[in-house]
Amino acid sequence: LFEAVQKGPAIEVFALNRAFLEDTEPKKANLGVGAYRTNEGKPWVLPVVRKTEIKITSDETINHEYLPVLGNDAFTKAATGLLLGDNSSAIADKRAFGIQTLSGTGALRIGAQFLRVILDRRVAYYSNPTWENHHKVFADAGFETLRSYRYWDQEKRTIDFEGLLADLDAAPEGAVIILHACAHNPTGCDPTQEQWKQIADLMERKKLFPFLDSAYQGFASGDPEKDAWAVRYFVERGFELFVAQSFAKNFGLYCERVGNLTVVQRNAASSEAVASQFTWLVRGMYSNPPAFGSRIVATVLNNPELRKEWMECIKTMSGRIIKMRKALFDRLTELQTPGTWDHIVSQIGMFSYTGLNEKQVRVLIDDFHVYLLKSGRINMCGLNENNVDYVAQAIHTAVTK
Ligand code: PMP
Repeated sequence: LFEAVQKGPAIEVFALNRAFLEDTEPKKANLGVGAYRTNEGKPWVLPVVRKTEIKITSDETINHEYLPVLGNDAFTKAATGLLLGDNSSAIADKRAFGIQTLSGTGALRIGAQFLRVILDRRVAYYSNPTWENHHKVFADAGFETLRSYRYWDQEKRTIDFEGLLADLDAAPEGAVIILHACAHNPTGCDPTQEQWKQIADLMERKKLFPFLDSAYQGFASGDPEKDAWAVRYFVERGFELFVAQSFAKNFGLYCERVGNLTVVQRNAASSEAVASQFTWLVRGMYSNPPAFGSRIVATVLNNPELRKEWMECIKTMSGRIIKMRKALFDRLTELQTPGTWDHIVSQIGMFSYTGLNEKQVRVLIDDFHVYLLKSGRINMCGLNENNVDYVAQAIHTAVTK
């Protein structure tokens, strides 16, 4: 039976990480994996998270009973509030509610499943390029037609906004459009507020369904309010929509799988039926979500003192990334590396889409032990004060070779 099974392809980002870990060169640098690193190149447990997890694990009143199918109420309310804002009329009107999910990926998957099974949606669009998992998540949920809309102008290293509008304009009524709420992965380029307005106008006119993917709220700019602008704008305009929220990056809770799917409806009257259908979908997939990470996030967001400490942590992370963008840009400028590098400082979030081609990427990996995705995407967190000179020199050599 099992002998006939063919091996599947490697997942690039994880294969790259494994190659990095096996590499014995002391100067090696990992710009591939999508996780925060300190200036010492180490993973970071946010101090407020450490403090809170110790408090939770030593609290003898907490037990390991099942959570409700749709999750920890204190968590989903806090997550939805963080996303839509404490003064959100959608929350006050009970038109918006949250479902605890297995991180951002789980929120996308359960949302896609609902759209496919309950609302019979069959067509979804994602940006070209996008986070590599969007296609698979929607395909596995049963979407029959998956298309991309233009997003990136490689030559100008900006958004191909005309292309984006043209492709969305050609989408059939009812199509699901995946939009990155902020810090677009992998390009680091977001639409301006004016461009978001035009996207919303078009989507309203064409009756397209917005599915916003919010994996970097607060982590991108250091300000969760600012990073939620596009989501809140769509909600204020009266769209019915889904938002997939991840707490992997902004709380550093990658492996705890803490996420929330925010559902915004036109009328509160549909909430009960919608929630009950989600309950059945979750029941058949994994029955109930895990508790630990959601307790950490709920405790922090619901306590003003801890929340303030968390805000400091996200400023530390986003500040270090911005500093590394500037450091890399300055080094490449000093070296007079051919090409323009302004995009490194203008892009936001964890990633930079360098514009390096596959051949140059190969040189970086093979000759310099600097690991990055073949698309040229680099994780700025992989840079630190000790390796930025080396990485800049390696890029310079790869470009001029
Ligand atoms: N969407 C985007 C755009 C992402 O970059 C990521 C993380 N790489 C995710 C969703 C989901 O991540 P997770 O499931 O770890 O929350």
